[in-house]
Amino acid sequence: MIFFKTTFFAAIKRFFYLVWDFVMPARCAVCGMVVDGKDVVCEKCLSQVMYTDFAALPFNPMEQKLHRLTGQNTPAMALCVYTHDGLAGRVVDAFKYHHRRDMALWAGEMIGRELSMAKRWEGYDYVIPIPLHHSREKERGYNQAMEICQGIVHHYHIEICDALKRESRTAAQARLGRSERWDNARGIFRLSDKAHLVKGKRIIIVDDVLTTGATLSAALLTLKEAGVAQASVVTFATGE
Ligand SMILES: [Zn+2]
Repeated sequence: MIFFKTTFFAAIKRFFYLVWDFVMPARCAVCGMVVDGKDVVCEKCLSQVMYTDFAALPFNPMEQKLHRLTGQNTPAMALCVYTHDGLAGRVVDAFKYHHRRDMALWAGEMIGRELSMAKRWEGYDYVIPIPLHHSREKERGYNQAMEICQGIVHHYHIEICDALKRESRTAAQARLGRSERWDNARGIFRLSDKAHLVKGKRIIIVDDVLTTGATLSAALLTLKEAGVAQASVVTFATGE
């Protein structure tokens, strides 16, 4: 009898999913084409990702940019190149402005796979998401950098530590000029009550996009005060 009940309910459940898939099929988050239920992005869109080779390339353009800003050597990598109309731009828009939390997780999983394959990224202890100001996080319902970290740990052996706090709500970086962005970013972070965990550890700061590098440089300099052994930077995309 129990066996009958179990198979009966399993059949009902299967039927329900079939109807659901028919009425509301899963769609590619970028182009809207119907995809296999477990895929977030279709094969065609996936083939358009413009990957960087930064994970395996020391002193890549991203590291040069951070060196100019902080005067320090910081291992850094972005998974892909950001263009507003390209795939990276549409993915970032989806998780920043259209409540697609799952896209940030997807971006993180892509990064996690890349990091797990690169020798240069072995032996790290923590990923640290760039925090949002709490009022902005409340508006959005989540912090996309934290979601990216959650995706990363699915494929890369590391733990998440939210060692940073956002001190003030800053103006949206996209609307500011280059030097204004740097002024805007300075002093915006402080160490959280978890910061003692990262002392003497090798950490990776995670954000969605690196443009001028001002925000990430400010975060790097703040984390140096926590006594990290090494601080690196990883983002989903990088702009010019
Ligand atoms: Zn697509």
